[in-house]
Amino acid sequence: MLTHGTHANTTETIRIFADLPPTIVRMSQLFNVYPLYDIEPVRAQGSYLWDADGTRYLDLYGGHAVISVGHTHPRYVQALTEQMQRISFYSNSVHIPQQQELADKLGELSGHSDYSLFLCNSGAEANENALKLASFHTGRKGVVAFTKSFHGRTAGAVAITDNPAIVAPVNSTEHVTFLPFNGLDGLDLGITIATCAVIVEGIQGVGGIQVATDAFLQALRTRCNETGAVLILDGVQCGYGRTGKFFSHQFSGIRADIISMAKGMGNGFPIGGILIAPEFKASYGLLGTTFGGNHLACTAGIAVLDIMRDESLMANADRLGTYLMDGIRQVGGYKELRGRGLMIGIEYDFSVENLRHNLLFNHKQFTGVAGKNTIRLLPSLALGTDEADQFLEALSECLVKHRETEVTQS
Ligand code: PLP
Repeated sequence: MLTHGTHANTTETIRIFADLPPTIVRMSQLFNVYPLYDIEPVRAQGSYLWDADGTRYLDLYGGHAVISVGHTHPRYVQALTEQMQRISFYSNSVHIPQQQELADKLGELSGHSDYSLFLCNSGAEANENALKLASFHTGRKGVVAFTKSFHGRTAGAVAITDNPAIVAPVNSTEHVTFLPFNGLDGLDLGITIATCAVIVEGIQGVGGIQVATDAFLQALRTRCNETGAVLILDGVQCGYGRTGKFFSHQFSGIRADIISMAKGMGNGFPIGGILIAPEFKASYGLLGTTFGGNHLACTAGIAVLDIMRDESLMANADRLGTYLMDGIRQVGGYKELRGRGLMIGIEYDFSVENLRHNLLFNHKQFTGVAGKNTIRLLPSLALGTDEADQFLEALSECLVKHRETEVTQS
């Protein structure tokens, strides 16, 4: 790069750069925050990805629970292509009928037709807006979150995330109290009339696929009713049909006041939102965003819901989840198996780093991880039995290899 004060005319500059290998003609670097696999997918379809050499990978990770209806689903691609050719963006100062269509279809499929929808662009942003709305509504500041929670990385969302390593000093606040996840003791003391919101994941994702018990969620509902605190269910990872019900907390029979969503909502197109119970009143300017609810995001969201409905993907998630869990039990060798539907955590009593490495590079299968010892499966809701079998076979072989290595090392 030419530094300030370097004298070179344009022709000279081009000549100098032309002499350098391409890697050196680099004006800027990516901020290096992601450890990367040395894999570059160039094409994807259904539950598979291909790299430039044509190697096929089975995707049991769904790009982190994002790919809900399958990669490049033809209906999804067609809907987005056609919308792009008509109009892709205008601001929230005009009618965007796709927003209402999305709200109608979401309300119907999720069983929340009486709730309103506010659209944004990501999970963290959905939680920010949920907190803000709860605070406006109650006039209070205190937030109760739970141990091992993950709610995002923006200011408010990271403050309610139980990971000090990602909370910058500017995000740290005394308004947040962390109580034990699934703990019933201490809720009365922790949730008070000063609490504006209680936020909880129906199934903790980053926290290791920890399922909230019915008793815990019901106790939170009761205590929020007693104190007037707003109950926010973070469905960003465990929502959108992944567990076999639209939202995982619906297994516990509770109603949330606000539900946050993102990830599977757009099958890869960035979109997030909150479903808001009828008692919250909207007013102009209370919440807002430039990109939230744009034509393309809504089109992606509508296509996802249409495909989920027409291809019965929630029922498939339920069926394939049971199939996978039964298969994993037969393979054995784990410490604990947790989850619901296609949100599965397999915890071992050893680090799963080598196991996942073996699955990825020898068996060409993507999986996720939580902590050091838990494999996280978050595949597309359209996963098939054949694909589940491929994973079970590979897992079994990898565990045999793991045991052999252990024996050699001991
Ligand atoms: N909430 C939960 C439960 C999540 O798992 C995540 C992301 O992993 C988020 C919020 C943040 O979502 P995003 O990365 O879209 O901001």
